[in-house]
Amino acid sequence: MNCPYCAYHDSRVIDSREVNDGIRRRRQCLDCNSRFTTYERLQPVSLFVMKKDKRREEFNKNKLLTGIRKACEKRPLPTDTVDKLADDIEAELYSQSRAEIPSSVIGDMVMKRLKSLDHIAYIRFASVYREFTDITILKQEVDSLADDEASASRSTAQLPLLPDEELETVARGPRRSRQ
Ligand SMILES: [Zn+2]
Repeated sequence: MNCPYCAYHDSRVIDSREVNDGIRRRRQCLDCNSRFTTYERLQPVSLFVMKKDKRREEFNKNKLLTGIRKACEKRPLPTDTVDKLADDIEAELYSQSRAEIPSSVIGDMVMKRLKSLDHIAYIRFASVYREFTDITILKQEVDSLADDEASASRSTAQLPLLPDEELETVARGPRRSRQ
């Protein structure tokens, strides 16, 4: 680190202290004796997602965004709501300073937010993410949402719950055998 006054290449550390995101050092130039400050910070590492099958892949915000957009398709939500949701999740993931996050944690973060945003988008996302193969479990989820809605004030901004035909579509979802 060259001196910012005379560009001399060497300095001595006269004070060193930890600050919230790194180390701050006061330095004195060995040539002109001027003092200056340097900061040492951790370089953010790439964030990896640990998938259910234990494969790791680099976190990809576009992929996250695509998943959320799909769940919100044709729902009366402004596009920037969806973008903001993905931004929030990205920021929260990076703020945890972890190099690796299980995909289930990200999925739960999305579900939690969608649940308070739009119940249909939530059920759609959950049906893909949790792979609801059993109509009973899906129905329980929908019923519990319906109860929430019934107990919540009618004046809330929450949108009406699934029409029957959409529920069936969701329930039929991706067919997977349970064996
Ligand atoms: Zn100097």
